[in-house]
Amino acid sequence: KAYAISPTLARQDQRNWKVKMSNVTVCVRFRPLNSKERRINGDLTGIHSFDSESFVFKDEKEDVRFCFDKVFYSDSEQLDVYEFLASPIVEDVMSGLNGKILTYGQTGAGKAYSMEGQSILECDEHKKGLLQRVTDELFGFLRHPVDNKKFTIKMSMVEIYMEKVRDLFDLSKDNLPIKESKTRGIFISGATEITVTNSSEVQQCLSIGIANRAVGETQMNLTSSRSHCLYIFIVQHEERSRSGKFVLVDLAGSEKVEKTGAEGRLLEEAKTINKSLSALGNVINSLTSGKTNHVRYRDSKLTRFLQDALGGNSRTALLCCCSPSPLNASESLSTLRFGTRLKLIKSVQRSFPA
Ligand code: ADP
Repeated sequence: KAYAISPTLARQDQRNWKVKMSNVTVCVRFRPLNSKERRINGDLTGIHSFDSESFVFKDEKEDVRFCFDKVFYSDSEQLDVYEFLASPIVEDVMSGLNGKILTYGQTGAGKAYSMEGQSILECDEHKKGLLQRVTDELFGFLRHPVDNKKFTIKMSMVEIYMEKVRDLFDLSKDNLPIKESKTRGIFISGATEITVTNSSEVQQCLSIGIANRAVGETQMNLTSSRSHCLYIFIVQHEERSRSGKFVLVDLAGSEKVEKTGAEGRLLEEAKTINKSLSALGNVINSLTSGKTNHVRYRDSKLTRFLQDALGGNSRTALLCCCSPSPLNASESLSTLRFGTRLKLIKSVQRSFPA
Protein backbone atom coordinates (compact mmCIF):
# COMPACT_ATOMS: atom_id res chain seq x y z
CA LYS A 1 0.00 0.00 0.00
CA ALA A 2 1.33 3.43 -0.92
CA TYR A 3 1.09 6.17 1.68
CA ALA A 4 0.83 9.83 0.74
CA ILE A 5 3.01 11.99 2.93
CA SER A 6 2.94 15.74 3.15
CA PRO A 7 5.76 17.60 1.37
CA THR A 8 6.86 19.06 4.72
CA LEU A 9 7.19 15.61 6.24
CA ALA A 10 8.99 14.32 3.18
CA ARG A 11 11.51 17.14 3.39
CA GLN A 12 11.98 16.53 7.10
CA ASP A 13 12.41 12.83 6.48
CA GLN A 14 15.03 13.54 3.82
CA ARG A 15 16.87 15.87 6.17
CA ASN A 16 16.89 13.24 8.91
CA TRP A 17 18.10 10.65 6.46
CA LYS A 18 20.95 12.87 5.37
CA VAL A 19 21.96 13.59 8.95
CA LYS A 20 21.85 9.91 9.88
CA MET A 21 23.86 9.00 6.84
CA SER A 22 26.41 11.79 7.28
CA ASN A 23 29.73 10.53 6.05
CA VAL A 24 32.12 12.96 7.71
CA THR A 25 32.84 12.96 11.43
CA VAL A 26 35.01 15.74 12.81
CA CYS A 27 36.55 15.50 16.27
CA VAL A 28 39.10 17.55 18.17
CA ARG A 29 41.81 16.27 20.49
CA PHE A 30 43.81 18.49 22.82
CA ARG A 31 47.10 17.01 23.93
CA PRO A 32 48.38 17.67 27.48
CA LEU A 33 50.43 20.85 27.96
CA ASN A 34 54.09 20.17 27.29
CA SER A 35 56.97 21.17 29.57
CA LYS A 36 57.79 24.33 27.60
CA GLU A 37 54.16 25.53 27.74
CA ARG A 38 54.02 24.78 31.48
CA ARG A 39 57.31 26.59 32.11
CA ILE A 40 56.04 29.78 30.47
CA ASN A 41 52.37 29.74 31.42
CA GLY A 42 51.89 27.24 34.24
CA ASP A 43 48.57 25.41 33.90
CA LEU A 44 46.97 28.08 31.74
CA THR A 45 45.03 26.83 28.70
CA GLY A 46 42.97 28.62 26.06
CA ILE A 47 39.98 26.29 26.56
CA HIS A 48 36.94 27.62 28.44
CA SER A 49 33.32 26.63 29.21
CA PHE A 50 33.56 23.21 27.66
CA ASP A 51 31.50 20.04 27.31
CA SER A 52 31.93 16.86 25.29
CA GLU A 53 31.02 18.54 21.99
CA SER A 54 31.81 22.22 22.33
CA PHE A 55 34.11 24.72 23.95
CA VAL A 56 35.23 28.33 23.76
CA PHE A 57 38.82 28.90 22.71
CA LYS A 58 40.39 32.19 23.78
CA ASP A 59 43.38 33.97 22.42
CA GLU A 60 44.38 37.52 23.31
CA LYS A 61 42.10 38.98 20.62
CA GLU A 62 38.94 36.91 20.66
CA ASP A 63 36.80 34.17 22.22
CA VAL A 64 35.55 31.68 19.64
CA ARG A 65 32.94 28.98 20.28
CA PHE A 66 33.46 25.70 18.44
CA CYS A 67 31.18 22.72 18.15
CA PHE A 68 32.26 19.27 16.87
CA ASP A 69 31.02 15.70 16.87
CA LYS A 70 33.22 15.02 19.87
CA VAL A 71 35.97 16.81 21.78
CA PHE A 72 38.70 14.81 23.47
CA TYR A 73 40.43 16.84 26.18
CA SER A 74 43.97 16.39 27.49
CA ASP A 75 42.99 13.53 29.83
CA SER A 76 41.36 11.44 27.07
CA GLU A 77 42.48 7.87 26.52
CA GLN A 78 43.60 6.36 23.22
CA LEU A 79 40.76 3.84 23.55
CA ASP A 80 38.10 6.62 23.78
CA VAL A 81 39.36 8.14 20.55
CA TYR A 82 39.40 4.77 18.81
CA GLU A 83 35.90 3.78 19.92
CA PHE A 84 34.26 6.99 18.81
CA LEU A 85 36.20 7.69 15.65
CA ALA A 86 37.38 4.45 14.16
CA SER A 87 35.38 1.50 15.42
CA PRO A 88 32.22 2.29 13.36
CA ILE A 89 34.40 2.64 10.24
CA VAL A 90 35.93 -0.81 10.71
CA GLU A 91 32.47 -2.36 10.41
CA ASP A 92 31.77 -0.35 7.26
CA VAL A 93 35.01 -1.49 5.66
CA MET A 94 34.24 -5.13 6.44
CA SER A 95 30.97 -4.69 4.57
CA GLY A 96 32.71 -3.36 1.46
CA LEU A 97 32.62 0.40 2.03
CA ASN A 98 35.61 2.72 2.18
CA GLY A 99 36.78 4.45 5.32
CA LYS A 100 39.41 7.08 5.97
CA ILE A 101 40.80 8.66 9.10
CA LEU A 102 42.92 11.78 8.87
CA THR A 103 44.89 13.52 11.60
CA TYR A 104 45.36 17.25 11.03
CA GLY A 105 47.21 19.93 13.00
CA GLN A 106 50.48 21.76 13.56
CA THR A 107 53.66 19.75 14.19
CA GLY A 108 53.78 18.64 17.82
CA ALA A 109 49.97 18.76 18.27
CA GLY A 110 49.57 14.99 18.76
CA LYS A 111 48.84 13.61 15.26
CA ALA A 112 51.39 10.81 15.41
CA TYR A 113 50.56 10.05 19.05
CA SER A 114 46.89 9.58 18.14
CA MET A 115 47.56 7.66 14.95
CA GLU A 116 50.55 5.54 15.88
CA GLY A 117 50.90 5.71 19.66
CA GLN A 118 53.99 6.95 21.44
CA SER A 119 55.93 4.85 18.95
CA ILE A 120 54.59 3.11 15.87
CA LEU A 121 55.62 -0.22 17.30
CA GLU A 122 53.80 0.58 20.54
CA CYS A 123 53.56 -2.42 22.83
CA ASP A 124 51.80 -0.78 25.79
CA GLU A 125 48.15 -1.82 25.34
CA HIS A 126 47.00 1.43 26.95
CA LYS A 127 48.93 3.64 24.57
CA LYS A 128 48.24 1.89 21.27
CA GLY A 129 47.20 4.37 18.60
CA LEU A 130 44.40 4.19 16.04
CA LEU A 131 46.55 2.23 13.59
CA GLN A 132 47.21 -0.70 15.92
CA ARG A 133 43.62 -0.75 17.21
CA VAL A 134 42.16 -0.71 13.69
CA THR A 135 44.31 -3.64 12.60
CA ASP A 136 43.53 -5.58 15.81
CA GLU A 137 39.81 -5.16 15.12
CA LEU A 138 40.11 -6.02 11.42
CA PHE A 139 41.87 -9.26 12.33
CA GLY A 140 39.23 -9.92 14.99
CA PHE A 141 36.73 -10.10 12.12
CA LEU A 142 39.06 -12.48 10.28
CA ARG A 143 39.20 -14.81 13.26
CA HIS A 144 35.43 -14.73 13.78
CA PRO A 145 33.88 -14.28 10.34
CA VAL A 146 30.25 -13.19 10.58
CA ASP A 147 28.95 -15.28 7.70
CA ASN A 148 31.76 -17.84 7.43
CA LYS A 149 33.06 -16.13 4.32
CA LYS A 150 36.76 -15.52 4.01
CA PHE A 151 38.40 -12.11 3.90
CA THR A 152 41.90 -11.29 2.79
CA ILE A 153 43.67 -8.14 3.93
CA LYS A 154 46.44 -6.44 2.00
CA MET A 155 48.49 -3.56 3.23
CA SER A 156 50.39 -0.71 1.53
CA MET A 157 52.31 2.16 3.05
CA VAL A 158 53.13 5.27 1.03
CA GLU A 159 54.30 8.79 1.62
CA ILE A 160 53.35 11.92 -0.30
CA TYR A 161 56.21 14.38 -0.34
CA MET A 162 56.69 17.33 -2.73
CA GLU A 163 53.74 16.01 -4.80
CA LYS A 164 55.41 12.62 -5.33
CA VAL A 165 53.97 9.36 -4.04
CA ARG A 166 56.73 7.10 -2.63
CA ASP A 167 56.26 3.43 -1.83
CA LEU A 168 57.54 2.86 1.71
CA PHE A 169 57.81 -0.90 1.09
CA ASP A 170 59.98 -0.36 -2.01
CA LEU A 171 61.93 2.90 -2.23
CA SER A 172 62.72 2.32 -5.93
CA LYS A 173 59.08 3.25 -6.60
CA ASP A 174 59.35 6.94 -5.85
CA ASN A 175 56.77 8.56 -8.12
CA LEU A 176 53.69 6.36 -8.30
CA PRO A 177 50.64 7.53 -10.26
CA ILE A 178 47.15 7.75 -8.77
CA LYS A 179 44.54 6.02 -10.94
CA GLU A 180 40.86 5.17 -10.82
CA SER A 181 38.95 2.04 -11.80
CA LYS A 182 35.41 0.72 -11.34
CA THR A 183 36.38 -2.14 -9.06
CA ARG A 184 39.15 -0.44 -7.09
CA GLY A 185 37.94 3.16 -6.94
CA ILE A 186 40.85 5.59 -6.59
CA PHE A 187 44.13 3.79 -5.95
CA ILE A 188 47.89 4.21 -6.06
CA SER A 189 48.96 2.27 -9.10
CA GLY A 190 51.94 -0.03 -8.59
CA ALA A 191 52.14 0.36 -4.82
CA THR A 192 53.43 -2.79 -3.12
CA GLU A 193 50.57 -4.67 -1.44
CA ILE A 194 51.51 -7.20 1.22
CA THR A 195 48.98 -9.78 2.39
CA VAL A 196 48.77 -9.72 6.16
CA THR A 197 47.01 -12.29 8.34
CA ASN A 198 47.59 -11.03 11.87
CA SER A 199 48.70 -7.98 13.86
CA SER A 200 52.30 -9.12 14.24
CA GLU A 201 52.68 -9.33 10.44
CA VAL A 202 51.35 -5.75 10.27
CA GLN A 203 53.94 -4.73 12.87
CA GLN A 204 56.68 -6.31 10.73
CA CYS A 205 55.48 -4.40 7.67
CA LEU A 206 55.29 -1.18 9.68
CA SER A 207 58.90 -1.63 10.84
CA ILE A 208 60.00 -1.92 7.20
CA GLY A 209 57.94 1.12 6.21
CA ILE A 210 59.28 3.22 9.09
CA ALA A 211 62.87 2.21 8.41
CA ASN A 212 62.43 3.14 4.73
CA ARG A 213 60.79 6.42 5.66
CA ALA A 214 63.79 7.25 7.82
CA VAL A 215 66.20 6.37 4.96
CA GLY A 216 64.28 8.65 2.61
CA GLU A 217 64.26 11.41 5.20
CA THR A 218 68.02 11.29 5.60
CA GLN A 219 68.56 11.17 1.83
CA MET A 220 66.33 14.17 1.28
CA ASN A 221 67.10 15.99 4.50
CA LEU A 222 63.46 15.97 5.49
CA THR A 223 61.58 15.44 8.72
CA SER A 224 58.49 13.26 8.81
CA SER A 225 56.34 16.24 9.77
CA ARG A 226 56.78 17.51 6.19
CA SER A 227 55.27 14.55 4.41
CA HIS A 228 51.83 12.93 4.44
CA CYS A 229 52.01 9.26 5.47
CA LEU A 230 49.27 6.91 4.24
CA TYR A 231 48.56 3.46 5.70
CA ILE A 232 46.24 1.57 3.35
CA PHE A 233 44.37 -1.66 4.15
CA ILE A 234 42.40 -3.39 1.39
CA VAL A 235 39.81 -5.85 2.67
CA GLN A 236 38.59 -8.33 0.08
CA HIS A 237 35.58 -10.55 0.80
CA GLU A 238 35.71 -13.81 -1.17
CA GLU A 239 32.21 -13.35 -2.60
CA ARG A 240 32.18 -9.63 -3.36
CA SER A 241 33.62 -8.00 -6.44
CA ARG A 242 34.21 -4.77 -4.56
CA SER A 243 36.80 -4.52 -1.81
CA GLY A 244 36.60 -2.26 1.22
CA LYS A 245 39.49 0.11 1.76
CA PHE A 246 40.63 1.56 5.08
CA VAL A 247 43.09 4.43 4.81
CA LEU A 248 44.73 6.17 7.74
CA VAL A 249 46.46 9.43 6.89
CA ASP A 250 48.92 11.18 9.15
CA LEU A 251 49.01 14.59 7.45
CA ALA A 252 52.05 16.88 7.32
CA GLY A 253 52.15 19.66 9.91
CA SER A 254 49.71 22.44 9.06
CA GLU A 255 51.82 25.29 10.47
CA LYS A 256 52.24 28.44 8.44
CA VAL A 257 55.38 28.61 6.31
CA GLU A 258 56.44 32.05 7.58
CA LYS A 259 56.53 30.70 11.14
CA THR A 260 59.02 27.96 10.34
CA GLY A 261 61.65 30.53 9.29
CA ALA A 262 62.34 28.41 6.20
CA GLU A 263 64.45 29.74 3.34
CA GLY A 264 65.54 28.57 -0.13
CA ARG A 265 64.81 24.90 -0.84
CA LEU A 266 63.17 24.45 2.55
CA LEU A 267 60.82 27.33 1.80
CA GLU A 268 59.88 25.84 -1.59
CA GLU A 269 59.35 22.51 0.11
CA ALA A 270 57.14 24.01 2.80
CA LYS A 271 55.09 25.82 0.15
CA THR A 272 54.53 22.59 -1.79
CA ILE A 273 53.47 20.78 1.35
CA ASN A 274 51.13 23.57 2.29
CA LYS A 275 49.90 23.59 -1.31
CA SER A 276 48.41 20.12 -0.91
CA LEU A 277 46.88 21.08 2.44
CA SER A 278 45.48 24.29 0.98
CA ALA A 279 44.20 22.29 -2.01
CA LEU A 280 42.39 20.17 0.58
CA GLY A 281 40.96 23.35 2.11
CA ASN A 282 39.82 24.55 -1.34
CA VAL A 283 38.13 21.21 -2.11
CA ILE A 284 36.30 21.39 1.21
CA ASN A 285 35.23 24.99 0.48
CA SER A 286 33.84 23.98 -2.92
CA LEU A 287 31.95 21.04 -1.44
CA THR A 288 30.45 23.11 1.34
CA SER A 289 29.50 26.04 -0.86
CA GLY A 290 27.51 23.74 -3.14
CA LYS A 291 29.85 24.20 -6.15
CA THR A 292 30.14 20.46 -6.51
CA ASN A 293 30.63 20.60 -10.29
CA HIS A 294 33.89 22.47 -9.99
CA VAL A 295 35.72 20.67 -7.23
CA ARG A 296 39.45 20.78 -7.99
CA TYR A 297 40.43 17.36 -6.70
CA ARG A 298 43.29 17.18 -9.21
CA ASP A 299 45.08 20.21 -7.79
CA SER A 300 47.20 17.96 -5.58
CA LYS A 301 48.08 14.28 -5.11
CA LEU A 302 46.51 14.36 -1.68
CA THR A 303 43.11 15.68 -2.79
CA ARG A 304 43.05 13.36 -5.80
CA PHE A 305 43.65 10.39 -3.53
CA LEU A 306 41.10 11.62 -1.00
CA GLN A 307 38.48 12.34 -3.67
CA ASP A 308 36.26 9.42 -2.69
CA ALA A 309 36.70 10.23 1.00
CA LEU A 310 34.93 13.54 0.63
CA GLY A 311 32.09 12.44 -1.63
CA GLY A 312 31.06 8.92 -2.66
CA ASN A 313 30.56 5.74 -0.68
CA SER A 314 33.03 6.49 2.00
CA ARG A 315 32.94 7.32 5.66
CA THR A 316 35.59 9.78 6.76
CA ALA A 317 36.76 10.93 10.17
CA LEU A 318 39.01 13.90 10.81
CA LEU A 319 40.85 14.27 14.09
CA CYS A 320 41.96 17.87 14.58
CA CYS A 321 44.92 17.80 16.94
CA CYS A 322 45.66 20.92 18.97
CA SER A 323 47.82 22.22 21.74
CA PRO A 324 45.63 23.55 24.58
CA SER A 325 48.11 26.35 25.31
CA PRO A 326 47.44 30.04 24.52
CA LEU A 327 51.05 30.07 23.21
CA ASN A 328 49.88 28.09 20.15
CA ALA A 329 46.49 29.77 19.90
CA SER A 330 46.77 31.03 16.33
CA GLU A 331 47.73 27.59 14.94
CA SER A 332 45.06 25.90 17.07
CA LEU A 333 42.41 28.35 15.86
CA SER A 334 43.42 27.72 12.27
CA THR A 335 43.16 23.93 12.83
CA LEU A 336 39.76 24.33 14.50
CA ARG A 337 38.48 26.50 11.64
CA PHE A 338 39.65 23.88 9.13
CA GLY A 339 37.71 21.22 11.07
CA THR A 340 34.62 23.44 11.23
CA ARG A 341 34.63 23.79 7.44
CA LEU A 342 34.96 20.04 6.93
CA LYS A 343 32.04 19.46 9.29
CA LEU A 344 29.82 21.37 6.88
CA ILE A 345 30.22 18.56 4.31
CA LYS A 346 27.99 16.52 6.60
CA SER A 347 25.00 16.89 4.33
CA VAL A 348 26.69 15.01 1.47
CA GLN A 349 24.70 11.84 0.96
CA ARG A 350 26.23 8.42 1.29
CA SER A 351 25.65 6.00 -1.50
CA PHE A 352 26.04 2.29 -0.92
CA PRO A 353 27.50 -0.22 -3.35
CA ALA A 354 24.96 -2.60 -4.84
P1 ADP B 1 52.73 15.55 15.71
O1 ADP B 1 52.64 14.17 15.12
O2 ADP B 1 51.45 16.31 15.55
O3 ADP B 1 53.92 16.32 15.24
P2 ADP B 1 53.26 14.15 18.18
O4 ADP B 1 52.17 13.14 18.13
O5 ADP B 1 54.63 13.69 17.85
O6 ADP B 1 52.89 15.42 17.30
O7 ADP B 1 53.20 14.79 19.64
C1 ADP B 1 54.20 15.65 20.16
C2 ADP B 1 54.54 15.19 21.59
O8 ADP B 1 53.40 15.27 22.44
C3 ADP B 1 55.02 13.76 21.65
O9 ADP B 1 56.05 13.66 22.58
C4 ADP B 1 53.82 12.99 22.13
O10 ADP B 1 54.16 11.82 22.81
C5 ADP B 1 53.11 13.99 23.03
N1 ADP B 1 51.65 13.81 22.99
C6 ADP B 1 50.83 14.16 21.98
N2 ADP B 1 49.55 13.88 22.26
C7 ADP B 1 49.55 13.31 23.48
C8 ADP B 1 48.52 12.80 24.35
N3 ADP B 1 47.22 12.82 23.98
N4 ADP B 1 48.89 12.29 25.54
C9 ADP B 1 50.19 12.27 25.91
N5 ADP B 1 51.21 12.75 25.15
C10 ADP B 1 50.90 13.27 23.95
